[in-house]
Amino acid sequence: MNLDILNPANGELLATVPVTTADEVARHAADAQAVFDSGVWSGLAPRDRAAVLLRLADLMERDAEVLARLDSEDAGKPITECRDGDVPGSIETIRWFAEAADKVLGSVSNTGPDVLAFTQREPFGVVAAILPWNYPLAMACWKVGPALAAGNSLILKPADATPRSTMHLASLAAEAGLPAGALRVLPGTGAVTGAALASDPVIGAISFTGSTATGRTVLAASAASNLKRVSLEMGGKSPHLVFADGLEYGDALIDGIVEAAFLTSGQNCTAGSRVLIHASIHDEVVARLAAAASALVVGDPADPATQLGPVINDAAADRILAAIDGAVSRGARAVSGGAEVTVAGGGRYIPATILVDVADDDPIVTTEVFGPVTVVQRFTTRDQAIAMANAVDYGLAASVWTKNIDDAMAVARGVQAGIVSVGAYSEGDMTVPFGGWKQSGFGGAEKSLEAFRQWTREKSIWIQLEGQ
Ligand code: NAD
Repeated sequence: MNLDILNPANGELLATVPVTTADEVARHAADAQAVFDSGVWSGLAPRDRAAVLLRLADLMERDAEVLARLDSEDAGKPITECRDGDVPGSIETIRWFAEAADKVLGSVSNTGPDVLAFTQREPFGVVAAILPWNYPLAMACWKVGPALAAGNSLILKPADATPRSTMHLASLAAEAGLPAGALRVLPGTGAVTGAALASDPVIGAISFTGSTATGRTVLAASAASNLKRVSLEMGGKSPHLVFADGLEYGDALIDGIVEAAFLTSGQNCTAGSRVLIHASIHDEVVARLAAAASALVVGDPADPATQLGPVINDAAADRILAAIDGAVSRGARAVSGGAEVTVAGGGRYIPATILVDVADDDPIVTTEVFGPVTVVQRFTTRDQAIAMANAVDYGLAASVWTKNIDDAMAVARGVQAGIVSVGAYSEGDMTVPFGGWKQSGFGGAEKSLEAFRQWTREKSIWIQLEGQ
């Protein structure tokens, strides 16, 4: 069985890749275990692993344009986003984790004098990651960096539609001197390749990024197989909370909300897909948001001027349009976008859509749309805003716009989300852990030294001393 990789912008056949079968997954896992046991990668000093990963980062820099084009073509992401965001961010990720390789520390316990007790973090052996399609290279690098720096053998399954940048990354890793078999990229479908990885008996840990529904099946497969460690990074319904003084941020407020909602056509786990605005400035903020959203350039992702490309496929377009139409039929009003537009060349394009007059419990407020759609709600008190922010099953990110430290900290402390930003809509840089709460995920953060918790396990060593 093969997978046709199609360009979402025009239906062009970009490549055909094999679907890795369950038998092949089992063989790869066993081979990866042999590579781990041989010590050819796991047995290197961390600084020597770092040197290989730093060479990989240099090669990514050399091939930056190739990597940007692969992601733009496979995922329909605007080329400018890939060039200026995803690819440089991915290179930085690999460098950051290379440099962190020898900074994964244990601790010495405060025991009595006749004992030395300490902890150390060790790699699992064979680990796997299952990736989403919306940030193919970036998500691969969030896994590759810490998993390989820690000494594991890693198996990556790219999303069905977007394997090419991950496959190119693996070829660059080989060129950088990564021992054969320490990194394997197995393209395929979720039902065949993903499911086989999740239930494989050899793989010791699996890191999943994708939808909450699929995350549940990965967790269940682990429970039904070898209880491999599971880390889940899943969907979101992340809010902005714009307080009465929010307009003091000026254009930064409007630009921040628009970028958060519509980057990658809103097909973003941390998309700011809810905007809670204090009633006193609601109408002015909505008017400015509508103007800014309507000005976004919709078009061919290969054109550097494009800000909103196509959505990933027909099924996604139909699902997003049905969500908009459903909300409109229940009384919502689109102040920008709201209906499909045609772009020469093909593809399914939905312009930046902002919906107002939406009931707080409407499905479009409580469920992830994963498209260029954000909903506006109105609040009058701080407690009400926090309660509204928390009234969904997700808890990935949130942002508060106020210069009042008491309001900002009340929200930062009160919002149930893994990442809260103040006066910005930010996931933070590489030094900051990234991970969700509630049904957005658990099991270990991405980025920062915390990421090593996903890819290493702690061992306590107790040494009884004599003659002390
Ligand atoms: P998806 O859940 O459809 O697919 C994700 C991956 O899981 C793919 O590689 C797919 O092949 C695989 N998969 C599907 N069925 C499987 C199964 N039964 N067993 C094992 N693997 C299986 O998600 P998607 O459409 O690729 O990505 C969009 C979702 O990802 C959104 O919900 C988005 O919010 C989320 N996401 C989260 C983060 C984060 O860091 N929290 C980042 C990016 C995307």
